[in-house]
Amino acid sequence: MKNPFFILFAALVVLLPVFSSEFWITLANYIGLYSIVAVGLVLLTGVAGVTSFGQAAFVGIGAYTTAYLTTAYGLNPWLTLLIGIALTAVAAYALGAVTMRLSGHYLPLGTIAWGLSIFYLFGNLEFLGKYDGISGIEPISLFGTSLSSGRQMYYLIWAALIVVVVASRNLLNSRPGRAIRALKGGGVMAEAMGINTASMKIVVFVYAAVAAAMSGWLYAHLQRTVNPSPFSLNAGIEYLFMVVVGGAGFIWGAVLGSALLTILKDQLQGILPVLFGGTGNYEMIVFGILLVVLLQRAPDGLWPFVRRWFPRRRSVNAPASAALLARRDKPQMGTTILEVREVCKRFGGLLAINKLVFTVNAGEIMGLIGPNGAGKSTMFNLVTGVLPITSGKILFRDQSIGNMPSRDIARLGIARTFQHVRLLPTMTVLENVAIGGHLRGRAGVARSLVCANRDDEAALLHEAACQLERVGLKDCMYEEAGSLALGQQRILEIARALCCDPVLLLLDEPAAGLRYMEKQALAELLKRLRAEGMSILIVEHDMDFVMNLTDRLVVMEFGTKIAEGLPAEIQQDPAVLEAYLGGVDE
Ligand code: ADP
Ligand code: MG
Repeated sequence: MKNPFFILFAALVVLLPVFSSEFWITLANYIGLYSIVAVGLVLLTGVAGVTSFGQAAFVGIGAYTTAYLTTAYGLNPWLTLLIGIALTAVAAYALGAVTMRLSGHYLPLGTIAWGLSIFYLFGNLEFLGKYDGISGIEPISLFGTSLSSGRQMYYLIWAALIVVVVASRNLLNSRPGRAIRALKGGGVMAEAMGINTASMKIVVFVYAAVAAAMSGWLYAHLQRTVNPSPFSLNAGIEYLFMVVVGGAGFIWGAVLGSALLTILKDQLQGILPVLFGGTGNYEMIVFGILLVVLLQRAPDGLWPFVRRWFPRRRSVNAPASAALLARRDKPQMGTTILEVREVCKRFGGLLAINKLVFTVNAGEIMGLIGPNGAGKSTMFNLVTGVLPITSGKILFRDQSIGNMPSRDIARLGIARTFQHVRLLPTMTVLENVAIGGHLRGRAGVARSLVCANRDDEAALLHEAACQLERVGLKDCMYEEAGSLALGQQRILEIARALCCDPVLLLLDEPAAGLRYMEKQALAELLKRLRAEGMSILIVEHDMDFVMNLTDRLVVMEFGTKIAEGLPAEIQQDPAVLEAYLGGVDE
């Protein structure tokens, strides 16, 4: 908490009621309530990439639960808070389990669908007072004081917001948080690192819903009356506006966006009817136009502009030392660890892999070469479970992995890099590499929220730093991964794969984009790994590199193996020469 921004902000929050009028307190209360929802939405939409229009419905569940239970049964609001959170979590889990499976446009459409359903549910249920809602809600009492005025509620609302902000930050800078951040971009990389992307999405969905329900609880006791209208789809869209305006990728962006839109809306509601005459929702028209302009000019929202005024602080540091993570037993040198038996892969009419047969032994570097489109990357995708095989068998340490999910294969000890690098460009190099250690860490969401994950976190970051040192990238561990040269990004991917503690390493064109000296360094690194007993399957186009490094080679063309043997034999092989000289390479 040495952040000067945070101190300034905290001082402002504490002092605001001292010098402001009721009017500003009311506004600040609403900003606080909206921010709580928006922070959850930042994690869900900005970080995990799941666009939800339905958050207002969860606010409604929190508000109606307490409204109903406190008025009908006289339950204590603190008890109904817990009940509301539990109810929301269950509802979100059920909705998430169905919705999060949808992909593309269907997912946001799904959130609209249940957002509407829940809204109409509030309006149609007799016991919830239909469209009139429920009134006569008692204020919350805290330490014997009844929080009946806006001024009294102010502190509770903003304390709740700060709790949500701090918990969300803790979560993001943790093992499950990195897994959540890795969800963006389709999840192939995340699954290859052992992350269960489907369940991670549901986790973040439930988290955002619970934050919304807390806001709803506060809202009900601030207003002392609830009706369905603030929980409509319109409200759901406004929450998204706030997040996008503030900056969907930033927790503080949510607070900024909520503040700006709430104040702007209030001011416009006063000014516009005077300008245009009559009454009407003119502010929504202005909002719409502003949003379009903003999306053009500042697609990352306004927070990045504000953040420039504050010194940047690193939130994640590698510890100088930490407990070492457990390592896997390595297989005996020379034993067969990967066996590909007559594997076929068909994409519609294209037979991309045709009855391919080869093996990889422990402690050897096996090269997979062939012209572009030969099926090398597809083979990698089959071995790592990104794609299911059409027929045949793949055995890893005598276990059939042909149709296993990626993350289970990662758990068995196969790690990979990608031909087209897949990393999180705005995350530091260190944290990117730590994603590779996902399966070796233990801390889950609950521990991470309350900072009870320190040892686990230190061990993971320490491991990531060690792997970065091993590959020679230690000097840039605090840089953003996206700022590295492409060649270095490939090396980063190797460090991330090593962080999985693999038995078998699959490298797809690791030397592409490297300079001569860097290639030399990479070859040295791979030889060192081999000497330590690592098995490596490598796809590479640079023939000098391949011939000097590999123990054996498999040559593919049009999905079929055309040759196999020692590098020296392959160089003389007539079929290979024909494929390379007769065909188009690179
Ligand atoms: P290489 O890595 O050897 O250059 P690939 O494995 O990427 O070759 O591609 C082999 C063939 O399979 C190509 O013709 C490619 O277009 C096709 N292919 C690869 N992935 C897919 C996919 N997901 N869907 C359809 N076709 C694919
Ligand atoms: Mg390829």
